[in-house]
Amino acid sequence: MTNTRWHDRAAELKFDGRAFINGQRVAAQSGATFDCISPVDGRKLVDVARCEAIDIDAAVTAARAAFEDRRWAGLAPAVRKRTMIKFADLLLQHRDELALLETLDMGKPIKYSRSVDVPGAANCIRWYGEAVDKIYDEIAPTPDTALALITREPVGVVAAVVPWNYPMLMASWKIAPALAVGNSVVLKPSEKSPLSALRLAEIALEAGIPPGVFNVVPGYGNEAGSALALHMDVDCIGFTGSTRVGKQIMQYAGQSNLKRVWTELGGKSPNIVCADCPDLDAAVRAAVGSIYFNQGESCNAPSRLFVEKSIKEQFIAKALALVPNFKPGDPLDETTVMGAIVDDIQMNSVLGFIASGKAEGAQLLAGGQQVRSESGGYYIEPTLFDNVDSTMKIAREEIFGPVLSVFGFTDLNEAIRAANATAFGLQAAVWTSDIRKAHQTARALRVGTVHVNQYDDDDITVPFGGYKQSGNGRDKSLHAFDKYTELKTTWINIR
Ligand code: NDP
Repeated sequence: MTNTRWHDRAAELKFDGRAFINGQRVAAQSGATFDCISPVDGRKLVDVARCEAIDIDAAVTAARAAFEDRRWAGLAPAVRKRTMIKFADLLLQHRDELALLETLDMGKPIKYSRSVDVPGAANCIRWYGEAVDKIYDEIAPTPDTALALITREPVGVVAAVVPWNYPMLMASWKIAPALAVGNSVVLKPSEKSPLSALRLAEIALEAGIPPGVFNVVPGYGNEAGSALALHMDVDCIGFTGSTRVGKQIMQYAGQSNLKRVWTELGGKSPNIVCADCPDLDAAVRAAVGSIYFNQGESCNAPSRLFVEKSIKEQFIAKALALVPNFKPGDPLDETTVMGAIVDDIQMNSVLGFIASGKAEGAQLLAGGQQVRSESGGYYIEPTLFDNVDSTMKIAREEIFGPVLSVFGFTDLNEAIRAANATAFGLQAAVWTSDIRKAHQTARALRVGTVHVNQYDDDDITVPFGGYKQSGNGRDKSLHAFDKYTELKTTWINIR
């Protein structure tokens, strides 16, 4: 499709911002809405239902009724599998429409919403569907006088609260394992990017997931999100977002019904490049490509780059040669690789971090400016700071924007200590030709995922989540089923 065609399609696209409860599109009961603004050009796309406690209650009631009458949980796993696979197939059939919604709503390039977000979400839904009829429960090693079953059962009503950076993908990472094992779900998308989640629910219904099983309630975090996290009839909450709100979610669970809480939170991931790196050009491409991908709005973005001093100058020269390739462009142009920042608030937050880096003495080698303001949208140049000190704000806090901070090191142990010296522990990377060094470094890094001689080459088969204040939950892989199931023992006396 040409770029003009994407603009034409965007102009024709019909948006529906109403909530999706019990299989139907509904307005918020108060009638309240909020504006859904596109970061691409600042235009209003649609009014979105501003759900509050009363709407959350309606969604949870619908989800509970669906769970209790077993219209979904009671189906054979093989039947749920077929429905999930159909759901995935339908997503791919709606690929262009969903990609366009994602791009218009949160600003990422159409190139990636079409090649990463939609297929990634479909693959996730298909994978959990396919997995669910291949999992066996256990029988305990009891004496002859007993038979003890250890089974996993769906936890019940699952709330999913997700961020705006990969709206459809983050939603899929939660809803796919939760639905596959038979739960009912109430999903709250971010107020900044609710549109694709609402379409997901319609497509799920079309695939055969019964009404009430999958509900979507758009709204503000401190209204809809908190009402969900405080609800007495939600059994479990899967949360992805900032560490600050993750802490609040845990408190809400403690204040209400001790619902199970799984958090996948922020990051400040270190990327350590040793002088014996096997392929320096690949390391440079990964360091630059992964921090600027998705405008730097990735929880696992390698925002702290540690380079051994003997190769640092060469590394930075190569990196600076690549930076112009990431010049922000029109997200609806198929050649654009860096799009818009999600909204003006986030853009100003990132610009604030850049200003603080300069003020604290880091050396700005590239970018640092807002650009394309004539478009009406929110764009920031790919930015690179050298000579960053671990005490600086840009070294400590998650920026969630296209800003790379470079540090030098001479001793690998010193780099590992600095890498671990944050509150976060999501991901890290090490580049070296020495397998012993790679393995020892991977062991020493207190993070959920360590990449060796690559960054971001993983897939749905492996867990994704953090240590420390990056949260306690794991999305992806079969381990995600643990979050959305309860473990039951049934001890049968057979004497
Ligand atoms: P936020 O924590 O601000 O928001 C996340 C979600 O929580 C949104 O739906 C938000 O709603 C909602 N929310 C906000 N306040 C409350 C509240 N008081 N009670 C209940 N829900 C609330 O994060 P962002 O959306 O800004 O996302 C960026 C963050 O997500 C980054 O820290 C990033 O690292 C992290 N992230 C982590 C991932 C991981 O797997 N570890 C993956 C992707 C992102 P609303 O937006 O409507 O206010």
